[in-house]
Amino acid sequence: MQRYIIIHYGEIYLKGGNRKFFEDKLIANIRLALKDLGSLNLKLVAGRIIILIHENWDLDFIKDSLQKVFGIEYFAFAWNSEQEFEKIKKKSLQLVKNKKFKTFRITARRTNKNYQLNSQEIEVKLGDLIREKLNKKVDLEKYDLDLHVDIVRDYAFIYFNKIEARGGLPVGSSGKLICLMSGGIDSPVAANLMQKRGSQIAYVHFDAYPSTPKENQEKVKDLVKILNNYQFNSKLYLVPFLKIQKEIIKKAPEDYRIIFYRRMMLRIVRQIAFKEDVLAFVTGESLGQVASQTVENIRAISESVDLPILRPLIGMNKEEITELAKLAGTYDLSIQPFDDCCSLYVPKHPVTHADLNLILDTEKNWQFDKLLDNAISESKIIELTNNHQP
Ligand code: ATP
Ligand code: MG
Repeated sequence: MQRYIIIHYGEIYLKGGNRKFFEDKLIANIRLALKDLGSLNLKLVAGRIIILIHENWDLDFIKDSLQKVFGIEYFAFAWNSEQEFEKIKKKSLQLVKNKKFKTFRITARRTNKNYQLNSQEIEVKLGDLIREKLNKKVDLEKYDLDLHVDIVRDYAFIYFNKIEARGGLPVGSSGKLICLMSGGIDSPVAANLMQKRGSQIAYVHFDAYPSTPKENQEKVKDLVKILNNYQFNSKLYLVPFLKIQKEIIKKAPEDYRIIFYRRMMLRIVRQIAFKEDVLAFVTGESLGQVASQTVENIRAISESVDLPILRPLIGMNKEEITELAKLAGTYDLSIQPFDDCCSLYVPKHPVTHADLNLILDTEKNWQFDKLLDNAISESKIIELTNNHQP
């Protein structure tokens, strides 16, 4: 029996005149996600993407892969039927017969408004049939089985399980961003949420090697690889930060060290953004989570650059962020031990209400441009490509 993947996309459908741009992006990303399956017989039909399933395809692989394609609301593995209602009845009965259930419901949808029956009539008539022939009970709320019938243009599709994906917009449809990526829980989640809004992410990691272990770099690379399941390839800048930290320790008041670390980091990322044609940054900050993340400190940090810093986690608590890290697939790796460069030379009592004037005064007679340029020229750029094994 021929089967199809039916893919529904929500938000893109509302895009009016730009819809084609978003649909093309989504289709390109679906093709990349399913690249290992070879060429696809794929059609766009009335707001759904329909792919013919080959007999030897691994449906679990497809499920895992498509759940990571942003823009998809849900999808299903469906059977097709001729559109004539008698044929739909026959096919439905045949499919349902082999299933174990006591209660059921029918969910019908039609995009073809000329079809002989409306959605409700399809539901009632099919419901009656299954009730009478198989002696089962309809329960719209607490059902064991939900039989979907989709009348799409001149096709009819029947399926049982709706597989939820994460929605959002296709990666690449809303430009590029640079994420300041640590090895912790938060920044990978921040990157993932911006991918969900359609951004392609490049990553910058600051590293205090040899004061921090070489393995740090591997951990960050592996985190980026996990996030590549959503965007297929990306660039990671590894920037040596130790010399700058040592200079900060010499020049800045102890309780302000973290603020200066961040200001210098952002200035470096600003230059990388210029090279990469990027207009905004992403960080994993959340208000009040740690001492450096108060409004005063966030302001003092942000003031160092003229580009917007997007902070998708700003209003979330650790529990919410942890849930999202599990959903993104980064959690298990993020909790592995890691000494961030910022955990070196950390003051006992970091300032919580940074005074911007003090910061500006400290920086006034400080020639740090050369130091920042050196860090950039000594940085490693790594291109990471998805191996298509989600
Ligand atoms: P995370 O879990 O992302 O490490 P955090 O809760 O530990 O965040 P901080 O250590 O204060 O918070 O870092 C705040 C943000 O600064 C991080 O989310 C990240 O965007 C950025 N950041 C911190 N350390 C680094 C680093 N070594 N390289 C690049 N960015 C960093
Ligand atoms: Mg951290």
